[in-house]
Amino acid sequence: VIKCKAAVAWEVDKPLSIEEVEVAPPKAHEVRVKIVATGICRTDDHVLKGSFPNIDYPVIPGHEGAGIVESIGEGVTCVKPGEKVIPLCLPQCGECSSCLNPDTNCCLKTHLYESQNLMPDKTSRFTCKGKAIHHFLWISTFSEYTVMPDSAIARIDDDAPLDKVCLFGCGFSTGYGAAINTAKVKPGSTCAIFGLGGVGLSVVMGCKSAGASRIIGIDINKDKFTKARELGATECINPQDFKKPIQEVLVEMTGHGVDYSFEVIGHTDTMVAALASCHMNSGTCVMVGAPPSGSQLSFDPMLLFTGRTWKGSIIGGWKTKDSIPKLVSGYMEKKFNPDVLITHTLPFEKINEGFELLQSGK
Ligand code: NAD
Ligand code: ZN
Ligand code: ZN
Repeated sequence: VIKCKAAVAWEVDKPLSIEEVEVAPPKAHEVRVKIVATGICRTDDHVLKGSFPNIDYPVIPGHEGAGIVESIGEGVTCVKPGEKVIPLCLPQCGECSSCLNPDTNCCLKTHLYESQNLMPDKTSRFTCKGKAIHHFLWISTFSEYTVMPDSAIARIDDDAPLDKVCLFGCGFSTGYGAAINTAKVKPGSTCAIFGLGGVGLSVVMGCKSAGASRIIGIDINKDKFTKARELGATECINPQDFKKPIQEVLVEMTGHGVDYSFEVIGHTDTMVAALASCHMNSGTCVMVGAPPSGSQLSFDPMLLFTGRTWKGSIIGGWKTKDSIPKLVSGYMEKKFNPDVLITHTLPFEKINEGFELLQSGK
């Protein structure tokens, strides 16, 4: 058992609390990892606010980390102690019908089908003050040490800087992949991205690398526009500057709607606005933002009847175990540079300040 520090969410709507926790050794087909760096994704904030589905508290959130293997359980062959790794918030077991199907990345042996956030054997490896603490997405990166199933870990390049490549665990891979895998953006096309946070800016990078000629960034926080332009947005607009609904503005700007639209906020109204912004027949809209827990959508079915395509995208459509190491290698070869997404670097003890910066749009 290792004693270390972890950021625990004891209940909904309370700041994280840094606690000493005990981390049990990995069981068969599990790996214990020393986390070196972790990003903060809006999805972690959904957990703190209680808007992420099927979460039991207390829980250790965090799902965008990088670290070093500390020890392995029986039967683990994919990693060895001392190797650099990225925990996978969407596992790839390699054996289920989804993993065997080249067209899907949604492994069937995942926490997505579980009603509780425990390890696959329905127990926890974390205790604090005598109480079992829940895991998050099987990887809980807001802990100095954490345990995950071997289907949820990928070995990466020995030279990879962990304080940078942690972003490949969620934000960058999600946004970049939504453009190139899910939408399959074509050269010369027009794209609109609703929400220019870490994930939305990564969609901008994906659209640019796919050769889109017009990339329209949309955000109610105009401070996000400088980075969006730096990364390839050709225009940036704030819906609050217009009297008309933003979908009408986009249809006017383009004549007929964009070829690809992306919702990267997680609000039902912007999901429908993004759908209505793409071309009535050939347009594709990709839902990346996480829908609020228990929400329902209502929309005019004519929007789909005329031929639009509406798709969801989880972790950018990547088969994670196969693809995330390749994305990290691409970063080492300078094929893309998500370093620009890093706005602040803080010591672990200041994790609540990180959430304040996220909430204030900084
Ligand atoms: P973020 O908070 O950094 O960015 C959201 C952006 O949306 C902010 O810049 C904000 O100003 C802007 N915004 C808010 N309301 C708006 C409105 N009405 N119109 C225009 N812009 C608005 O969040 P993030 O970390 O980039 O994550 C974005 C979303 O993606 C979240 O819902 C997150 O849960 C989700 N997510 C999904 C996946 C996936 O696999 N599909 C993975 C990671 C994150
Ligand atoms: Zn995330
Ligand atoms: Zn699988």
